[in-house]
Amino acid sequence: MPRPGKEPLGSARAAPSRSKASRSNSPARGRKTLPRETPEGKRRRARLVFARLARTYPDARCALNFSSPLELLVATVLSAQCTDVRVNQVTPGLFARYRTAADYARATPGELEREIRATGFFNSKAKSLRRAGAAIAAEHGGRVPDSMDELVRLPGVGRKTANVILGNAFAKDEGFVVDTHVGRLARRLGFTREEDPVRVEDDLNALVPKGRRTLAAHQLIFHGRQICVARRPRCEICPVNPLCPKVGVPLLPPAGPARRAGPPAAPSGRRRRA
Ligand code: SF4
Repeated sequence: MPRPGKEPLGSARAAPSRSKASRSNSPARGRKTLPRETPEGKRRRARLVFARLARTYPDARCALNFSSPLELLVATVLSAQCTDVRVNQVTPGLFARYRTAADYARATPGELEREIRATGFFNSKAKSLRRAGAAIAAEHGGRVPDSMDELVRLPGVGRKTANVILGNAFAKDEGFVVDTHVGRLARRLGFTREEDPVRVEDDLNALVPKGRRTLAAHQLIFHGRQICVARRPRCEICPVNPLCPKVGVPLLPPAGPARRAGPPAAPSGRRRRA
């Protein structure tokens, strides 16, 4: 008889039983709880998951184009609520025009906004770039700082942006970049229960050692864009399916005879006359 928490992850029977109340409270009718797992078991599973993702996405890398820490900072600020493709369309012209942090600080009102308009939320992004440019010019001699403490003190720079810059521009692999894809996948994979990105990062840092976190985040982002998409994850073709508890993912209806379209059939034994 199968024991709870002992069934293989990813099988149809791995879904933990849920009470009537929790079922009715579940808008997505997905799995709400994690399988029982020791911390060491979870670390081992995480190693296997990231090994499979590494084989699936050997080219996983930062999708934003940049040639300096300042350019990456600017591109990352612009990427909020915008696709990396769109950002990469905007930045060549922007980087040619604004070469230093002071250039952003001195940008004429309205001009910078026009340059970045296509990335959306351009007023607040322009404000962040002006203020960050001014702080980098005044307090760091025009160079983007290379420590988490200094980066997160820059206007408009949070831990996510700081981790992107540290990991990709300075090759300092300290924390985990937690964007919308990474947060969603970490929860589906049962690596965290948290919604707050800082807490998600703490949980992921406990599973992935320093030195591998930047790449692991890129692998999750690639996977979140290609297979574990937000609305309907493609679990049937997912390379980590056997290792994934699919927390919160709607269960597919059991296979059965296809339903007929149209009005319900008349009760058996009583045939309607035409
Ligand atoms: S696609 Fe499905 S099996 Fe794969 S990681 Fe996402 S939820 Fe898990």
